[in-house]
Order: sequence, then C-alpha cells, then structure tokens
Amino acid sequence: MTNDRKKKPTHLDDDTIDIFSHQKIMENYAFLQEIGVFDFVHSLEGEIKKFKRLLTSALDIFAHTSVDEIIDATVWQISDYSLPSAIVFIWKPLHNRDEISIKSYKNYQLVPSNLEVKSIDHFEPFFQKYPRPVNYDLFSFEFCQGEHSETLKSFDNINPELVIPIMGPSGLYGLVLMGNKIRGEEYSIAELSFIQHLMSFVSLAIQNNLHYERTLRDVKTGLYNNGFFLTRLGEEIARTKRNGSKASVIIIDIDFFKKVNDTFGHLAGDRVLETLAITIKQTIRTDDIPSRFGGEEFTVLLPDTDKHSAFVTAERLRDIVSKMKVTWEPPLPPITISIGICTFEKDSNLSTDEIIQRADEAMYWSKKRGRNRSTAWGIGLLDKIERKRSTGADD
Ligand code: GH3
Ligand code: MG
Ligand code: MG
Repeated sequence: MTNDRKKKPTHLDDDTIDIFSHQKIMENYAFLQEIGVFDFVHSLEGEIKKFKRLLTSALDIFAHTSVDEIIDATVWQISDYSLPSAIVFIWKPLHNRDEISIKSYKNYQLVPSNLEVKSIDHFEPFFQKYPRPVNYDLFSFEFCQGEHSETLKSFDNINPELVIPIMGPSGLYGLVLMGNKIRGEEYSIAELSFIQHLMSFVSLAIQNNLHYERTLRDVKTGLYNNGFFLTRLGEEIARTKRNGSKASVIIIDIDFFKKVNDTFGHLAGDRVLETLAITIKQTIRTDDIPSRFGGEEFTVLLPDTDKHSAFVTAERLRDIVSKMKVTWEPPLPPITISIGICTFEKDSNLSTDEIIQRADEAMYWSKKRGRNRSTAWGIGLLDKIERKRSTGADD
C-alpha cells in the first residue's frame, strides 16, 4: 500500500482534492483502479484544466475595452493554444451599414489585408443553421457558386481551414477565418472545442463593445453623436487645464442645404450628409473627434491644436469639400461648407457651452461674409483674415 501511495499522479494541482489522502480509498485502491475510477478522475481533472484555461482566456478577452484589443487578445489566446498559420477577423462595426472591417494576422503578426469583402449578410442564413466553426471546404462548397464566388475567391488566397461565425442577438456580426496549423497537422477535437467555446465569449465581448460604440454614434453618418462629443469636450477642457495644452473645436454647416433637399429630395440630401461625413473622417487626424451636431451641422474636436493649426485644418477641409463628388443621379451641384473655430486653453476658463457658442458665432460670421469660408473666434484672427483677404499679405 505504501508503494501504491507513491503512484499519486503528479498532475494534481495544489487546489485539487487529494483523493489518496482518504483512508477508505486507499484500502480499496486495487478494486477502484480495476473498475477505472482513477482513470475517470484523471480525465475529469484534464477537463477541469481545460475549463480553467478557457475561463482564464475569456477573462483576458473581457478585460479589453475596444474591438481592436479584443481581437488582438483573441489572436494571442488562440495562437498560444493551437498555432494557426493565419487568422483573419471580418466584422461589421455598425449593424445598419455595409461597412466591413478586416484584421489579418500571419504567424501572429498583423499584416495588410487584401481581402475584398463588401458584405457578410449573405452568410447569415448558413450560420443560423450551423452556429459553430465549420470546415472551410463545407463553407466554400455552399458559397462558391453565383454572386458570392468573388468573396470566396479572395478567401481562398489565405487558404483557410476553418470558418468561425461571430453570432449575436441581431444575427451575424462577423467571421473569423483560420488558416491551417503551422506544422500542417489537423486541428484536434480539443482545439476545436476550445476555439468554439472561446469564440462564444469573443462574440459576447465584441457585441458588448459594438452595442456600446453604437450608443455613441449617429446612425445616419456613423460619426460620433453630440452626447459623446460633449463628454469628450469636457474631458479635453480638463486636459488643457492639467497640462497647459491648447485644443480647438470647429463647427461645420452645409451652405444652402435646404435647396438640395428641395430640388433633389431628402434622399439626395442624406447622401450628401453621408459623403461629407466620410470626407471629414478622411481629412482629419485619427486623434480628432468628428461628430454630427444635428441636422446638417457637424463638429470636430481637435486635441493639441492651436488657433493657427485649427484654421489650417478647417481651410483644408473646406477646400476638399468644395471639390467632393457626391454620387447621385442626376448629378448634384458642388457642396460648400461654412466653418467656425474656437480655440481654448488653460486660462480661457470656458465651459463646453461657451466654447460651442463661440464656434457657432464664428460660423455665423462665415455665413455672413458670403459662406464657403472659415472664421476663428477672436478679434485678432478675424482682423488678420480680413487683412490677408484685402491686401493679399501673409501676415
Ligand atoms: P445656410 O446656408 O444658411 O446654412 O442654409 P441651409 O439651407 O443650409 O440652412 P437651413 O437651416 O435653412 O436648412 C437646413 C436644412 O437641413 C433643413 C432640414 O430639412 C435639413 N436637414 C436636417 N437634417 C436632415 C437630414 O437628416 N437629412 C436631410 N436630407 N435633410 C436634413
Ligand atoms: Mg444649420
Ligand atoms: Mg446650412
């Protein structure tokens, strides 16, 4: 019996109940071993280990607060477990829009994606039926014909082995394509089970995040809404007080927008708003916060930006918008915008309302002076602009 006692499996963790310390078990050791009790206990311990690992991975994923970070954490967890050669995440940031985001990893490194995916909606009925990881051969057999064949061809390039759906209450949020394993062997049942369970957590984490993001966004344009803008403006005011930096707000109003609606209809007007939103996003820096103020008015919060730089940004945007093409039939006349700017810093002591009011006043001056122009609040700059316009002088 003392020898048998030494057979205690070494894989037992400190927090695992030590069945060998029970006298009755040790007295019946041979019998229990014969009927397979210890093998069973051993396999249960293996299962517990797997679930512990899954929970640790899930907790790590839930600890991240942006979709980008959730995806990075997932790639790390999956790669750590089963060494896939490539992982591609494809997801819809906004459920009511066609926009698709893609993140590709090869050998755990983020790589540029050359996938052509316009929509994933057509895969939804398939995954409603099979809401689990599927073999890519089965998936491509289903979609290789007809209108989806182009998307499939671009998927083929990354040589996927598995397609994993990210499903939620409003349907299919995204897909994950996993390439074959680095050493070429098949995914084991344990790995597939881990990936499937982990993806259920990833789906929840991404859904939580997308829902949260959507509460911050304007549905029509996909830009931030006014509530989020006001929150960020408050934070930026506090930051300028803390570190002595300068920040600016610009308010943008489309000129004679009512005329577009009246002449070409509301849908044409909506297309102008959507196109302008994309142009604003493409023109500003990634740290800037673009939002829809309401109607045909937009705001951009420019952190770490003084009056001169804000004016230069506003003028660049104004120029780009005047050349912007809006796809519509019949073609629409060029769109112009009027802009107002307010810059603030530590000693300005301005509230959010006062900053917006000043930017709005400056915008009003742009309208008054003939539209399609930018005005910065503050006598000095107004004088400077006027002087520049009348004399052509630089300063
Ligand atoms: P101004 O140059 O003085 O700014 O003239 P304007 O015509 O742009 O300004 P006005 O305030 O007279 O009209 C704004 C119009 O914007 C009226 C409103 O119907 C329209 N509008 C507001 N929100 C939307 C929207 O979501 N979609 C569309 N199509 N039109 C909108
Ligand atoms: Mg207006
Ligand atoms: Mg207007």
